[in-house]
Amino acid sequence: MNWGKCKPYLYMDESIPVIVLGPNFLQFLWAYIAYAIYGFILLILLFSREFGFYRLSLSVVSYASTLTNYFLAAFMNQGVSNYNYQYYQQPTKYCEICDQRQQKYTEHCDSCGVCIEGHDHHCPWIGKCVGRHNKRYFYVFIFSLFVFQISSILIFANIL
Ligand SMILES: [Zn+2]
Ligand SMILES: [Zn+2]
Repeated sequence: MNWGKCKPYLYMDESIPVIVLGPNFLQFLWAYIAYAIYGFILLILLFSREFGFYRLSLSVVSYASTLTNYFLAAFMNQGVSNYNYQYYQQPTKYCEICDQRQQKYTEHCDSCGVCIEGHDHHCPWIGKCVGRHNKRYFYVFIFSLFVFQISSILIFANIL
């Protein structure tokens, strides 16, 4: 079974792992630690302005949400496509490297070295591709990050 440069862990059955670590896992790890510290310092700064928890709840909740979903996007299987499908739903191209027919929306990622279902893009900050199974975590992370940053700015500017 071809996993390219990705490492699968914790199999639910013989071909589908829950966790897949990407080729840029170390880059993700450093980015995650740096982001966690940055967010924590930002929260400390917000609290030091003597705002109550009620006013800060949006920042606290969105910060917790970014940490959780960033983690899940990086660890959950992004949709590596190397299962032997019984039937093909609108197969498109043939991948010479993986030696298999691709499903619709499946694309080969050169960085991961493997075909990815529902391929969105390769994101080195999560260490791998954004694909079918980690897409939702990725977009919830982006949305939470937006809320966290905007709410912090509004609190600093005394608008919220
Ligand atoms: Zn491929
Ligand atoms: Zn990739």
